[in-house]
Amino acid sequence: MSQLPYGKHLIDEADIQAVVDVLRSDWLTTGPKVGELETAFGEYLGAPHVVAVNSGTAALHCAMHALGIGPGDEVIVPALTFAATANVVLHQRGTPVFSDVLAGTLLIDPEDVARKITAKTRAIVAVDYAGAACDYHALRELATQHRICLVADACHSLGGRFDGERVGTLADLTCFSMHPVKPITSGEGGLVATANPFFAQRMRSFRNHGIDLDFRQRQSGGSWKYSMTELGFNYRLNDIQCALALSQLKKLDSWIERRQQLAKSYDERLVDQRFATPLTRRSISEHAFHLYVIRWQYQQCGVGRDAALSWLRSQGIGVNVHYLPVYLHPFYQKRLKLAAGLCPIAEQAYGEILSLPIFPAMTEQNVDDVVGKLHECQRWAKHA
Ligand SMILES: *Cc1c(COP(=O)(O)O)cnc(C)c1O
Repeated sequence: MSQLPYGKHLIDEADIQAVVDVLRSDWLTTGPKVGELETAFGEYLGAPHVVAVNSGTAALHCAMHALGIGPGDEVIVPALTFAATANVVLHQRGTPVFSDVLAGTLLIDPEDVARKITAKTRAIVAVDYAGAACDYHALRELATQHRICLVADACHSLGGRFDGERVGTLADLTCFSMHPVKPITSGEGGLVATANPFFAQRMRSFRNHGIDLDFRQRQSGGSWKYSMTELGFNYRLNDIQCALALSQLKKLDSWIERRQQLAKSYDERLVDQRFATPLTRRSISEHAFHLYVIRWQYQQCGVGRDAALSWLRSQGIGVNVHYLPVYLHPFYQKRLKLAAGLCPIAEQAYGEILSLPIFPAMTEQNVDDVVGKLHECQRWAKHA
């Protein structure tokens, strides 16, 4: 039996045609599609500047570079996130400082952030976990008060809103991923949105080795000359990927709606179930439902989350765990030597969370099957 995955891309004929058109054109990389994508995204998000790069991780790294994060600087990140959120701080030789999350939503806790701000703090990175926007009112206020920058890791929340405002306009810099499990895909890819032209310019240079002009600009200027003015990377997104992303963007809103419907179906089927409880949600944010996360209640079931996960996978339900608190990874244990107990709410949640399948092509029947298997799992657990 094939597994129902926790997330999956959706490609249609228009997507395929868009890619084929680029393959038949003169430009495979850094051609006209890059600018087209950046303009289309800027319009969608309502963001003045968008910089396309080749992964969400590159987007976060560009954001850290734009802010000038370096040795001695501290950047506050939530404990419960993908490792890349914190890794990019280390790539810049800064220090990630881990904040705990709120028990209900698992979003970064502004009060814990406030406790962790020091004279060395340069930025806060808010992660819109599962697709729910963080408390940007509280975070914005903290950032203003302490004259530090606010970065949104919105890899889960493209298409979402907070208090009526689109994700992409809520922070100084907002980072997105276009990995295949994310809201839309370019195979691999990332984007950074900002209202700050200085940040945008720094990121455009950083994604191209720190060179001041790209090849097309040089060619149209009739010059071979270029200057490398700082150390950068090759973080360019190519035209093939941009064409796919442009075609996918047209479907984004309908896919977010579909995810919201699927989440509602899960909610209705799980109401009053004490063994599997969905995360708390705030009506102030419009959820993008990259993930549908439940907490597996060990006390109700008698078996832990890991046993439940294995059993569900053996039954064809591709459940997953997002995430191990970053500082508990072996590399972080060795490098930063942060003891367990640092972020108790994130650590407790880690033992209970389970991401159920959710993606645009999923059917109501699939939701029924998943919830049916959750019930079966509970019955199995009682006898295990
Ligand atoms: C996916 C993801 C990233 C990294 O994106 P890539 O495109 O895989 O490099 C960073 N942060 C979060 C929260 C993510 O989910």
